[in-house]
Amino acid sequence: MTPETLDCGHPPSPHDESTTGYASNSQGKRYCYECAAEMDRDAIRAGKPITAYLSKAPSDSMYNFEVSTWPGVQLGYAWITSEYPVRNSAWGNEILCVRARLQAGEGLWREYYGRGFGEGMVINLRPCKVKVTT
Ligand SMILES: [Zn+2]
Repeated sequence: MTPETLDCGHPPSPHDESTTGYASNSQGKRYCYECAAEMDRDAIRAGKPITAYLSKAPSDSMYNFEVSTWPGVQLGYAWITSEYPVRNSAWGNEILCVRARLQAGEGLWREYYGRGFGEGMVINLRPCKVKVTT
């Protein structure tokens, strides 16, 4: 059996029965999880908004959440800055405002912010405007 090769040139990532081992973009190209995460890192480097997922940070972490891509490649951390109740929400009882630190590469972190419903939920993150000090 020859291993399948995706459009990024790698075999599908290790995965369980409920997942495919690759991500597809809008053009139908297939990328392994690491390459898909690398595209998110490119967006972070470029200061573009990204869509990610929140998961619970380990209890010894100083952050509330870990931020990862949907297959679970970790991009950074997030913490709650404020939370407020919502009525009639299908998702939860409160919206969390978070700040995130996302890693675009070795030693290169950017601050992002967004609003989401917490653990296990998708979140749209936008780059914080960073003032350059001289
Ligand atoms: Zn790849």
